[in-house]
Amino acid sequence: MSNKSHGSVVEFESVTRSFGSITALRDFSLVLHPGELISLLGPSGCGKTTALRILAGIDKDHTGLVKIDGKPMTNVGANKRNIGMVFQAYSLFPNMTALENVGYGLRVRGVDSTARGKKAKDLLELVGLGEQSNRRPTELSGGQQQRVALARALAIEPRVLLLDEPLSALDAQVRSQLREEIRRIQTTLGITTLFVTHDQEEAMTISDRVGVMNKGNLEQIDAPSNLYNKPLTPFVAGFVGLTNYIQGFMESKSEVQVLNQLLDISDHSPSLKKGEEVRVLVRPESISITKASSGATVLTKSFLGPMTRIGLDAGLKELIYAEVPSKEAKKFDTGDHVKISIGTDSVMVESV
Ligand code: ATP
Repeated sequence: MSNKSHGSVVEFESVTRSFGSITALRDFSLVLHPGELISLLGPSGCGKTTALRILAGIDKDHTGLVKIDGKPMTNVGANKRNIGMVFQAYSLFPNMTALENVGYGLRVRGVDSTARGKKAKDLLELVGLGEQSNRRPTELSGGQQQRVALARALAIEPRVLLLDEPLSALDAQVRSQLREEIRRIQTTLGITTLFVTHDQEEAMTISDRVGVMNKGNLEQIDAPSNLYNKPLTPFVAGFVGLTNYIQGFMESKSEVQVLNQLLDISDHSPSLKKGEEVRVLVRPESISITKASSGATVLTKSFLGPMTRIGLDAGLKELIYAEVPSKEAKKFDTGDHVKISIGTDSVMVESV
C-alpha cells in the first residue's frame, strides 16, 4: 500500500450534479492515489455512473471541481483526459477483429501499424486472449469480449481506467474469474482505477478502498475490512453484509441494554442519552448461542459452508440471525432453546 498512499491522480472536489429536482451527486469529494483501485458501491440510482461520467468529461454540467494530476479538468474535453473506459454493454466494433479493436485507439492517434499490432498483441496476451486475436466479437463469448474491451481501454496507456459495471452481463462463474483478472492486470500495470458496481462482494474483493453511496451522497470510503467491521452509518452497515437490528435502550451514556445484556459501547456512540430507545446493529458472527432451558428458540438453520446461519425467535418483531461454525451448529436443532450473547466489538447503536 505504501506506493498508493502519496499524491493524487484524481480529485473530485465538492462535485454536485442535479437533474431538475433530483440531486444525482451531492458535494462529492474523493481522492484516488496512484495505482489505487477504488470501487463506488451502492444501489441503483445512487449516483455512481454520474460520478464516472463527470470524471470522464462526458457530463460537464456540474458544480465543484475535477482534477487529474492536480490539473483542473474544467476546460479539458473528454477525448483529452487520457481516460480508458469499459462499460457494462459489450461495446466492441463488430466489423473489426479483436486485434483491430484493441489497436483502434492507437490508430486514431496515428501510431503506425507495426507498433500498433505489437502493442495490441501484447495486451491480448495480457488479458489471456493471445490465441483469439483474429476473431470478431460475434465469435467471442461475453467474458472474452469484455477482456478485449479491457485491452482496448488499456492500449492508449490511460492515466485513469474507468470500469462501469463491466461484469454485470456475465454469468456468476465468469464474473468472479474476470474480476480476479482485472485486479491482477490493474496491479501489474499499476493503473489508477475507478470501478462502479452495485455488487457488494465484487467491490469488497477487488478494491483497495470502497466508497459506499446512498442517494447521491458518499456515505463512507474505506478499506473493505473497515467498512464491514466499522461502518460509520446504519446504511453502510446494512448494505455491506447482513446485519441484525435489535431494539434496546441506553442504560447510561455508555451502556446499552439489549436482550437482557448490558453492553459497554463507550467507544461507539458517544452522543446518545441515558434512557434513549435505540436500535443495536449486530453482525450475525458477533452473536454466540449456548443451549438453555428457556430463552430464544431456534427456528431456521441455513448451511453456508464453513458457517451455518441460525434464525432465532427472541420474541421480537424480526428474527435474530447468528452465524456459527457449522461443526458447532450441529449441536442445535430447530425448536431448541438458547441463550444469546452479543460480542461488543462490532456493535453500532442508533436512535430510533
Ligand atoms: P445504476 O446502478 O442504476 O446505473 P447509478 O448509481 O449509476 O445507478 P446514476 O446513473 O448516476 O445512478 O443516476 C443517479 C440519479 O440521477 C438517478 O436518480 C437517475 O435517475 C438520475 N439521472 C441520471 N442521469 C439522468 C439524466 N440524464 N436525466 C435525468 N435524470 C438522470
